[in-house]
Amino acid sequence: MKIQLETIPVWDGVKEGSECFICSLMKKAEEDGVRYYLSSAVMTPEVRVETNRDGFCTHHFSLLAEGGKPQSLALVMDTYYDESKRLYAPGFEKIQSASSPRKLEKAVSSFFESVGEREKGCLICSRMEERLVRYCYTVAALWKEDQEFRKALEDSKGFCIHHTQQLYRMAKEALSGDDLVEYGKLLFALLEKNLARVQHDDWWMTQKYKSENKDKPWNGCEDAQKRAVYKLIGEGRVIDPVRS
Ligand SMILES: [Zn+2]
Ligand SMILES: [Zn+2]
Repeated sequence: MKIQLETIPVWDGVKEGSECFICSLMKKAEEDGVRYYLSSAVMTPEVRVETNRDGFCTHHFSLLAEGGKPQSLALVMDTYYDESKRLYAPGFEKIQSASSPRKLEKAVSSFFESVGEREKGCLICSRMEERLVRYCYTVAALWKEDQEFRKALEDSKGFCIHHTQQLYRMAKEALSGDDLVEYGKLLFALLEKNLARVQHDDWWMTQKYKSENKDKPWNGCEDAQKRAVYKLIGEGRVIDPVRS
């Protein structure tokens, strides 16, 4: 697999000092994806063929709805509805011609099966996944090639659990043998150490709410409860890319 390196964003990421720089990069990828499908790109027939066919996951549909671009989204939705109308017409007809509770039940189940099929796949998730693959591959490639990056990664706060899984998956494309073992162990050593640190920060927050500690310093734990959540689940997750 030939994968394009993303050296600059990954180097910027490792230097930012966050809980997971893949989360930061993927939040940006998500914003870019939403902006693209609310831009003039949706005026072009090729893009509308895709939006009509694949659409978006529920999370990204709602980001589009809240994206403040009514005209673009109205265009996308108008022809998406046309396609849905075509796909749902036989189901509506079967429901209206059902002559018994059993036939109605069958027709309704089959209608919602087609709704489930229609909901599968998301163009924004697909665009995000392309970047996720490149970012995760680049981390492994830079770890191998660049001693300075290796040191920066070892000194970083590591990654969220969700992205550790993606990083390990892509490591197998970039590395092999002893390198793969060493890098894989580093990813999980970083995870174990930093889960403990985040928990300690969260614990300190619980202590700070006790009256005897109210004058003690926060030690940077003012947002520990949120970091405790996102260290587990990650941000900017790819939910349902289009599988062809
Ligand atoms: Zn992450
Ligand atoms: Zn999505």
